[in-house]
Amino acid sequence: MKFRSTRETEPKFVLSAEAIKEGLAPDGGLYLPEEIPTVSLDYITGLAALPYSDRAAEILSLFLTDYDKALILEDCRDAYSEARFPGGAAPIHSLDSEGIEVLELWHGPTSAFKDMALQIMPKLLSRSLTMTGETRKALILVATSGDTGKAALEGYRDVPGTGILVFYPVDGVSKVQKLQMQTQEGDNVAVCAIRGNFDDAQNGVKQIFADSAVAEQLNTKGVFLSSANSINFGRLAPQIVYYISAYADMVKAGSIKAGEEINICVPTGNFGNIFAAYIAKEMGLPVGKLICASNSNNILTDFIETGVYDRNRKFHTTISPSMDILISSNLERLLSLICGPKATAEYMASLKNDGKYSVTEDELAEIKKVFCGYYCSEDETAAIIKETFDKNGYLIDTHTAVGLGCAKKYMKDSGDTKKLLLASTASPYKFSQDVLASLGLEVPADGLDALTALSEATGTTIPTPLASLRGKTVRFDMTVDRSEMTETVLANN
Ligand SMILES: *Cc1c(COP(=O)(O)O)cnc(C)c1O
Repeated sequence: MKFRSTRETEPKFVLSAEAIKEGLAPDGGLYLPEEIPTVSLDYITGLAALPYSDRAAEILSLFLTDYDKALILEDCRDAYSEARFPGGAAPIHSLDSEGIEVLELWHGPTSAFKDMALQIMPKLLSRSLTMTGETRKALILVATSGDTGKAALEGYRDVPGTGILVFYPVDGVSKVQKLQMQTQEGDNVAVCAIRGNFDDAQNGVKQIFADSAVAEQLNTKGVFLSSANSINFGRLAPQIVYYISAYADMVKAGSIKAGEEINICVPTGNFGNIFAAYIAKEMGLPVGKLICASNSNNILTDFIETGVYDRNRKFHTTISPSMDILISSNLERLLSLICGPKATAEYMASLKNDGKYSVTEDELAEIKKVFCGYYCSEDETAAIIKETFDKNGYLIDTHTAVGLGCAKKYMKDSGDTKKLLLASTASPYKFSQDVLASLGLEVPADGLDALTALSEATGTTIPTPLASLRGKTVRFDMTVDRSEMTETVLANN
């Protein structure tokens, strides 16, 4: 299996190890497999007999054909072990009365779904260094608004051949998120706050990536920069696994018959998670519609409705902050598959220059065959959390609530009665304060007190990685100006 850029009309192919090591294609496009492998229904239902780690190895090896399958299996067994995902990696909670199955993707070390990819991707990157004859160390540079930074730190800690440095806006993350990062363990990790907002952190990191003098200096020390961003195919591939795995589990549990179509709803930011579901469908998973759920930053809802992607709009800060995004990078992959690389390159140029682009009517019709877009307001999101807890005794986080709200809107509008699989992307404890407020309860000002309050009010258990924060030692409390970021990178190596 070889990979091409989303923008190349005369593609130059690379192997998956290179695609994972490079992250972005040289022309600025994203890597896509030259063709999407297909699997049979028997293959899918047969996965039910395997533990999650082995299902992951099976599916990953369809894409990463240049990797040794035995090593992929070894890495998956470590990444998705009971120690890292107590109780299983991707369990399903049935909301029977609603016809909805909730796929809980947040049982990993940082209580958000990004662990599903970031527990395995660093191992794949580490192997890719050996496979491509790379002798330098990969320094992973991350700017984070909260979830990605911690998940990347946990994933890369002590992975051979790598180091990681995370920048976060000093007042731009929650107290729990800050503590999660400041107390990070591992010998190859570093965390630094910057005075500024997330955009400052992100722009600073982008500038460092583009600075050839920095690259040169790092090179003399035997280091090169790499990214843990969701545009890397190494992050996408592990996300395909859990949709196929969930289908196998649903057949095994008898909630659907083998071959029966399901719909999938995904709370969406960068379009990575829902694009993984699209690939699963293209591989042969029986899927009807993909429902793209947004918060008030509803640029994708508008795009799927009108075919116009227009980022010239107000940015809303919401209670589902991991979906507060106006440029959904992974949409480029869908465009490339549906509109072709030439049109994709044009659309991306127009997005860069004018902040918008429009697909043709035919292209939009193709997109609408599979995708539906809905969004939830802040009030609707809060109401869904309360309603779901009151009616079903089931506690969900703010991002999952956006998904559930959109799923219900879709079911009501369309009358579509197919079983719906909802991707649940974070533990409610990761956003305790907003979840408490949504339930109409008193909200402690302290983030850790909010964990306890939520547990006492709902009779649910705080996930161990969050509960253990109280006793942890702060290792990284450095704060620098944006202008000092480059020095920080060089000083850390
Ligand atoms: C990152 C994230 C999302 C959005 O996922 P994308 O792949 O960017 O669409 C949704 N919910 C949570 C909790 C996240 O951390």
